[in-house]
Amino acid sequence: MRGKPVAEPVRVPVEGELASCPECEGGGGFHVAFRKREGGFEVFLVCPSCRFRFTVGEFLISDGEPRPYDPAIDDGP
Ligand SMILES: [Zn+2]
Repeated sequence: MRGKPVAEPVRVPVEGELASCPECEGGGGFHVAFRKREGGFEVFLVCPSCRFRFTVGEFLISDGEPRPYDPAIDDGP
């Protein structure tokens, strides 16, 4: 891995709408960032003002690698 290890993004509860940084209340929107995870990338948010890193829930996207064969899905009815 390159770079320094960094802390896990903080899980932030959302009530109503979250459009400003929960840490500094600045920003007005967020940057999107990605972390490599087994089977894909975890998406998290970064405050453009204070760099606070957080998520609002699990948000994974595929890295494009085919998943392993799974008979429960691939064998059909
Ligand atoms: Zn902030």
